[in-house]
Amino acid sequence: MSNDDKVRNESKIKERIWKIRDYIQDLNNIKEGIIHFLVSRKELDDVTKDLWISDVKGLYYNTVSAWEMLKSASKGNLNFLDKSKNFLHNARSLLAKVVSEIKFFKEELVLNLITETENSFENCWSAFYNEFNILTPEIKSTKHIERVIKVSDSEYHLPCSVCGKISVECKIGYGRFDEHESLVYSGITHSRSLRKNLANKLFKILKKEDLSEVHSFMKDYLCYEGIDAYCPECDKIYCWEHYNARVEYDDGFYDCTCGECPAGHLRMIDD
Ligand SMILES: [Zn+2]
Ligand SMILES: [Zn+2]
Repeated sequence: MSNDDKVRNESKIKERIWKIRDYIQDLNNIKEGIIHFLVSRKELDDVTKDLWISDVKGLYYNTVSAWEMLKSASKGNLNFLDKSKNFLHNARSLLAKVVSEIKFFKEELVLNLITETENSFENCWSAFYNEFNILTPEIKSTKHIERVIKVSDSEYHLPCSVCGKISVECKIGYGRFDEHESLVYSGITHSRSLRKNLANKLFKILKKEDLSEVHSFMKDYLCYEGIDAYCPECDKIYCWEHYNARVEYDDGFYDCTCGECPAGHLRMIDD
């Protein structure tokens, strides 16, 4: 690319990123609309009202932060790209939460409000992802992504099969609330501690790089869903982003997280 092309390209990206602000402005108007709606409803106690209003604000401000980070990423600092994605994914989770909350009101108006909110966020989401795809450095097809990374005799990592990001860690150590050393599992939706004496069995399976057997092990000892980052049909690991993980809520309470892999296999990954 010549220098002129590069400058032209950069100014185009800048222009498009400024344009995303229009979508965010639209989301801002919707945020105000929902807050007005919540404030004017008498059947809700003040505490719940405040919580739900802060969720609506969270949806909006996470999107704004995603935009700030994207702006920095477009200037060449790619560390901000991941941060921008994190904020946008947080916003999407809050959107699901807000929708589950306003469904509490059985009014016709609510359905319109939900559609409007979802469409507005969808516009932001696709505009952001358009830039993410342009800014994400190509993963060289020659770069081989390992199935299992052995960090040490007592620590193994499972990288995302698409981008190589570490998505699961299994190691001997201390979980957040552990008094004793345990076998600590950290996946894309949660971390949990298992009995330390299970480690030998698990590490033997990891050494064989048999992900489906690791998954069965986790189904037996961790939770029914097994490895949250694993698609059994693909026999592959995916990070939060590439598993397209979505949090679902019921009346504002966490319900579950579902993942859809790049091949379209859908499953519940956390309950
Ligand atoms: Zn990934
Ligand atoms: Zn799959």
